[in-house]
Amino acid sequence: MGRDIPLGRIAGIKVTMDVTVLLLAAFYTVALAVNRFPIESPGHSDTTYWIAGVGGALLFFLSLLVHELGHALVARDEGIGVRGISLWLLGGVAKLESSPTTARSEFRIAVVGPLSSLACGIVLLCGAYALPDFGTAALVGNLFALLGRINLLLAAFNLIPAAPLDGGTVLSSMIWKRTGSQATGMKWAAWAGIVVGASMIWWGWGWVSDGDTAAINGWSLILVGAFILFAAFRSLKAQPLVALLDGVTVAEGMVLHPPVARTFDSVGTFLRSLDPSETAQAYPVIDDRGHASGLLTASAIRATDSNLWEKLPVQALAFPLDRVTVVRSDEPLLPAAQRVDGGDIRDGLVVSPDGEVIGTIDSRSVYRVAERRRLTAPTAR
Ligand SMILES: [Zn+2]
Repeated sequence: MGRDIPLGRIAGIKVTMDVTVLLLAAFYTVALAVNRFPIESPGHSDTTYWIAGVGGALLFFLSLLVHELGHALVARDEGIGVRGISLWLLGGVAKLESSPTTARSEFRIAVVGPLSSLACGIVLLCGAYALPDFGTAALVGNLFALLGRINLLLAAFNLIPAAPLDGGTVLSSMIWKRTGSQATGMKWAAWAGIVVGASMIWWGWGWVSDGDTAAINGWSLILVGAFILFAAFRSLKAQPLVALLDGVTVAEGMVLHPPVARTFDSVGTFLRSLDPSETAQAYPVIDDRGHASGLLTASAIRATDSNLWEKLPVQALAFPLDRVTVVRSDEPLLPAAQRVDGGDIRDGLVVSPDGEVIGTIDSRSVYRVAERRRLTAPTAR
């Protein structure tokens, strides 16, 4: 999705939406203003119905936002960076910098979404009951009641224990907790997702082939079912990798003690200091006091005209520390590599638990370790 429209920030979290949201919002507005409100709350002007229709569409997306904000805030509480929330045709997604490292953390982040929807639903339904049953208030009450029910439905739907729904993640985290294996949890949730997705498509197709007025609902069911099926298959495909990397820390995947570049040297001097057989593709940069100040990458060097290397100081070409992802050698490899992969540059620095720079890591580390493990332990799992 490259067409995200920025909407602003909530609690420091960037919120964007896809253009498909506008289509869906227009559809809701028309459906509410033309079909629903004039029938359920008669006696108002067309303008009032249109305002209520727009209000209904807005409240719907606000509900989705509250759900995703729940995921994002709990993720942040668990120490996981949040890249932002984006809304799209089939709902919203809170984009996290890395996956949770413990079953408890995964459970908390997943379960809070449906709980937020449940809370929204209850608040809206209470509002609907509290409003008087006449005039404009009745129309607002009708709107609240509708959105309240939609939120309860969202909570219930998202709790279906099948990947990629929140309920699937909850199931996966519970199996992870019980068996100690994240991969086992993922596998069960993915299979549940395949069953649920396929059933929805089958059910939707039944409606569509009946050919009556429910055809549009049938197609929606097929669309959502296909989305679930596709995501569940993807999760099932990723499962062997997660299994191979079970218990692997950054230390096993990093490049230990790569050549170090000094800020005050020229790129040419640094390159001459390298052993001809050197394979490292990223080099920690230290300043004149011996402190880490950034990261120089082979790709940045290659992208520069070689005639400039003698004059160009390392500092000018290196990425400063604030643009480099720093991970610890004792943290789980997979989420650390995800963080590096989503960063500004695809290489990161590795520090020891006491904060000393001891290596570098890149997004390919994961595959190198997985390959090594596959070869050295062919009978495992
Ligand atoms: Zn959710």
